[in-house]
Amino acid sequence: MDLSDIQHFISERTAGFLKRGTHQLLIDGEWVSAANGATFETRNPATEKVIAKVAAAGAEDIDRAVRAARKAFEEGPWSGMRPVERERLILRLADLVEEHAQALAEIESIDNGKAVAIARAVDLAMTVDFLRYMAGWATKIEGSTQEHSVPYALKAEFVTYTRREAVGVVGAIVPWNFPLMVAVWKLGPALAAGCTVVLKPAEQTPLSALYLGELIREAGFPPGVVNIVTGDGLGAGAPLARHPGVNKISFTGSTEVGKLIGHASVDNMTRFTLELGGKSPVIVLDDCDPEAAAAGAANAIFFNHGQVCCAGSRLYVHKKMYERVVGEIGKIADRMTLGSGFDASAQMGPLVSQEQLDRVCSYIEAGRASGAEIVAGGERQPGAGYFVRPTVLANVSQNARVVQEEIFGPVLTALPYDSIEEVAAWANDSPYGLGASIWSNNLSKVHRLIPKIKAGTVWVNCHSALDPSMPFGGYKQSGIGRDLGRNALDAYLETKSVFIAV
Ligand code: ADP
Repeated sequence: MDLSDIQHFISERTAGFLKRGTHQLLIDGEWVSAANGATFETRNPATEKVIAKVAAAGAEDIDRAVRAARKAFEEGPWSGMRPVERERLILRLADLVEEHAQALAEIESIDNGKAVAIARAVDLAMTVDFLRYMAGWATKIEGSTQEHSVPYALKAEFVTYTRREAVGVVGAIVPWNFPLMVAVWKLGPALAAGCTVVLKPAEQTPLSALYLGELIREAGFPPGVVNIVTGDGLGAGAPLARHPGVNKISFTGSTEVGKLIGHASVDNMTRFTLELGGKSPVIVLDDCDPEAAAAGAANAIFFNHGQVCCAGSRLYVHKKMYERVVGEIGKIADRMTLGSGFDASAQMGPLVSQEQLDRVCSYIEAGRASGAEIVAGGERQPGAGYFVRPTVLANVSQNARVVQEEIFGPVLTALPYDSIEEVAAWANDSPYGLGASIWSNNLSKVHRLIPKIKAGTVWVNCHSALDPSMPFGGYKQSGIGRDLGRNALDAYLETKSVFIAV
């Protein structure tokens, strides 16, 4: 691989990893090529250069990985491990991820485009904390005992209790915007529950999961407990989603693909959790400091280049300060410098791929065509790399495509509103319901608004804050089930009721 343009920025560990050139699949504890030898390329979105070749798994490889996961679940040392031993292994993995955080952040930056500093401060910090949080749950899985009242056996005596049991083999299909972090959102609770996993990272960003695979081996997880299969959606994702040997699918990605996965899962009665798209409103009430609200709203949409499922992509500002807030956000956007994830002065990196760049640009054109005023941005940055300027589209209509559809890029739409009733109705006028933020210090208004908002998370005076202990997921077409928090663990457990006649 030609690493000449990045070799001065990357650590020895990252260079060593990338110099392998071609990366393999992790199946049953071994690194193996795809059965048919197929590979695909992954590019640095800041330079468009190929940075690695990666094995392209197909149905045969998925089948091998699922069988390895099944064997590890039913027979291997993992199946007999006590909760405290699982906890120790997950903690050991967290320590290793922490020790390798710089290399992982660099790899995330080269593969995804985000800044190394952001990858460390957000992706890696959250990954380590969440692994530790979930490790603790391994020893706190509890059933319950009941006082029975079996109505048709009045004289009989029973001992009745419930057990929580690992659901089995988990297929985890994850996206490219927070590649490692979201992979661990699935792995953490699955491993704490005692499941085994087949993980499929996104084809745009397969590298951090493969690096994690090394650390999983080093931590001492038995073979087959975590298998990592790289490949695209149709070649690797779809066979995993419809494999009858998978007991649970945990997916994060687009609503369109989430529905396909849901259908495939129901055919096999595979359990599923779907964390899908969003079009999250940012609601600025009339008591706000306009500058603080503008800074918050700009961060809500431009963080991670807008490639965040809960990005604050629809801004609603009370009409009395609409011009001021939108003008301020425009200034912030105009000042932002774009550059590679290794450029410490850059405030925004490239989008992940040519496809994503084309998609975002076509939405900007649709906004322009629908009569939106371009307050900032509105174009790609010339030169190499998939860079698009942070964009603010003002005075769009509520039913315009740019307001209704998920763009997944640094594009904000802005609309003025008159009353709380009006803004609540507009906030909910979306197929999605992942997140929403309210900007105000008026407690009474805030508390009246929170229950009206149909979204899995409501933030007040912040946006996109996440915590390992706080459930994250969507209402409506933003998904089914929750990642993070205790709820996430429940999604990897079955409940068994036991009656013992005594
Ligand atoms: P995006 O549109 O943001 O790339 P996707 O929903 O297409 O998001 O991708 C998220 C994940 O789903 C990726 O790992 C991708 O490979 C996978 N995927 C895409 N299509 C399918 C499919 N038909 N079945 C299973 N997985 C898929």
